[in-house]
Amino acid sequence: MDLGKKVLQGDVLSAARLIRSLEDEVEGAEGVLESLYVSTGRAQIVGITGAPGVGKSTIVGCLIGKLRKRDLKVGVVAVDPSSPFSGGAILGDRVRMQAYGVDKEVFIRSLASRGWKGGLSRATVSTVHVMDAMGKDVILVEAVGSGQADIDIARISDTVILVLNPGAGDEVQMMKAGILEAADIFVVNKCDLAGAEQLRQGLMAMLSISTRKASASAWKQDVVMAQANCDKGIDDLTASVLKHNEFISTNGELEKRRQERAKLELAWAVEDYLKKNIDSMDQGQLAQMVKDLAQRKTNPRSVVSEIVGRMSAGGRDGLFAD
Ligand code: GDP
Repeated sequence: MDLGKKVLQGDVLSAARLIRSLEDEVEGAEGVLESLYVSTGRAQIVGITGAPGVGKSTIVGCLIGKLRKRDLKVGVVAVDPSSPFSGGAILGDRVRMQAYGVDKEVFIRSLASRGWKGGLSRATVSTVHVMDAMGKDVILVEAVGSGQADIDIARISDTVILVLNPGAGDEVQMMKAGILEAADIFVVNKCDLAGAEQLRQGLMAMLSISTRKASASAWKQDVVMAQANCDKGIDDLTASVLKHNEFISTNGELEKRRQERAKLELAWAVEDYLKKNIDSMDQGQLAQMVKDLAQRKTNPRSVVSEIVGRMSAGGRDGLFAD
């Protein structure tokens, strides 16, 4: 049976093999992903972000349990741009894998900057597609919310969770980064520490003046108080995550987010297609084009038009060596 079919049946080993092959750019892997595309778009994609150490991994660990109790199949993508490793090498992942290793309805995978030429956002979306095709109901994408992180969680998620801690002073940074507008659910974690209530009130005040569109049909951003290391508040968080999905499914927001994502993927595909074609061009002609450009005999935009024109002519004039 081919790899794609096995992934569709939820086979963990096949899914892991496909993700690894995509990462290593093994010939044919992209083709398998393409064939799975029509079977994706069913899962709820939940992004979880926040500064390192706020408790994201702990929260994700608890969330998996709560979702499984509701008989939902769960995928987890842990993205760590700072780690040179991948394939389950992130410590938090190992711990979680031990906890859920026997449950075949939980599939966990870490991504790091190794491999994945298209960048982490694209790698994340590809991995999410594989999990979606496996039949996962909820896919948790855990990412470090640092400014330089190579992943824009809001662009690839249906539901965005931002985790904060009391006393960390993240609020001002957050306003600057615009994440206040992007988050659907805020988690004030480590409520056992001083200042949790103060943070909640500050958040509520900021949300009341937020520029996010407030209308009767819009989702009212939620603030959940939690102490994840004691599993406190995670029931509320689970309820909020599922409620958000229901809410945006009926008010048109989910469709809007999915279209935005489709547009993004289309742009990536166009970029890939052009790059691949340029790579396969007759190298002599390409060198001449570059020379003419450098000498300002032409300009980049007109060269692109020429290349695209020749591409649509099917390369019959020999521009593409093939
Ligand atoms: P991440 O880097 O955001 O994924 O954070 P982790 O989940 O790895 O948590 C960082 C540390 O905070 C760990 O030592 C956790 O045990 C601890 N932690 C998580 N939740 C809580 C909490 O509610 N209260 C306290 N005091 N510590 C917590």
